[in-house]
Amino acid sequence: MTPALARPAFVLPTGEGGSPMSYLCGHSLGPMPRAARARVEHELARWAGLGVHGHVEGDPGWIDIVAPLQAPLARLVGAEPDEVVAMNALSVNLQLMLATFHRPRGRRRRVLLGPRPFPSDLRVAASNCRLLGLDPDEAVVVAETPPPGGSATDAIVQAIAAQGEQLCGVCVEAVAYLDGERIDLARVAAAAAAVGAWVGADLAHAIGHVPLHLHASGVDFAVWCSYKYLNAGPGALGGAFVHRRHHGGAIAHASGWWGVERADRFGWDPARQRSAPGAQAWQLSNPPVLQAAALRGALEVFEPHTMQALCDGGRALARAAREALAGAAADGHLEVLTPAAPERHGQMLALRVGAAATGLETALRHAGVVVDARGDIVRAAFCPLYNGLDDVRAFVHALEGCL
Ligand SMILES: *Cc1c(COP(=O)(O)O)cnc(C)c1O
Repeated sequence: MTPALARPAFVLPTGEGGSPMSYLCGHSLGPMPRAARARVEHELARWAGLGVHGHVEGDPGWIDIVAPLQAPLARLVGAEPDEVVAMNALSVNLQLMLATFHRPRGRRRRVLLGPRPFPSDLRVAASNCRLLGLDPDEAVVVAETPPPGGSATDAIVQAIAAQGEQLCGVCVEAVAYLDGERIDLARVAAAAAAVGAWVGADLAHAIGHVPLHLHASGVDFAVWCSYKYLNAGPGALGGAFVHRRHHGGAIAHASGWWGVERADRFGWDPARQRSAPGAQAWQLSNPPVLQAAALRGALEVFEPHTMQALCDGGRALARAAREALAGAAADGHLEVLTPAAPERHGQMLALRVGAAATGLETALRHAGVVVDARGDIVRAAFCPLYNGLDDVRAFVHALEGCL
């Protein structure tokens, strides 16, 4: 029996009988960490008691509310603290990064996305092309979907080679949202560098899920949301990584008053404003304090654990579920879409169950198991922080009862 590592740290949704459900939907919205609730309540009380003085009083005051997030976020993504910044939401940050990095020059105009890109990523890439006066049908390229069992990393690397010097840059999900396949970011970055293109990573399904080494792997930028595996709550404060080689004015980018040194924010002479250090220079607005507080509480739950240990724990649970479902798969009731090789998957399993997917989601919920459905696919994530083998058993039992 593998128990969850930190189940008491979370409030899990309760089912029809009032007992906690097997919550397998951390790939979509993580459950509430008690520490997140406590941090938000703390800031609400400070707002009630201090009003505007809360900006500068307290530890930290609201003007410094994101400062304590730098180090824990940097650890989770494998970066230096000045390479990360907590701001905005994922699609906004992707737009800001594409505005920074997508600079068409001569024949070099295109942006390549990984196979079956997330709809928002595709739309952001296309709308940014329109802002640049480019035709998105020509300037946005999507890597071919690999054949069953094939590798998305291979497909991306092949597409990079085929596009060659037509590529400005490459933007890929580090873990694919649809089937949970892990991408080898270092291989993608090396292939892109070989043709002179930059690389951006979408970490929506990767941060808080798998170990990342953004600085060493050489990607130029990354963006993420915090409501999935980071458990920071609906609409949580997202984040971005910008590699050190682009810091200090090396590249032009959007910036607002929060992108300048704190002491200069009210300076009326723009020529004398100094930029905030590193990735913080990409900030525009003052941050949403309640969301920053929730994220801080959520990150505290990760503190005692390495990402390698969490990834190993989640993979073991996913493997147990896969093995328990082998019979149902052999009988043709479902197909596991997530790659089986340990280096190519994490804690999420995507199961093709045919037209039954939405009905299954509802039936499982009545049985006390929370998953989600996308088209004919059911996705279940086994988060080692709050899931254990008891949840794997509940899932398999409930699913087999529905098939
Ligand atoms: C969840 C997700 C997003 C979400 O974008 P928001 O801007 O946070 O709404 C973006 N990309 C991918 C790949 C996702 O899985």
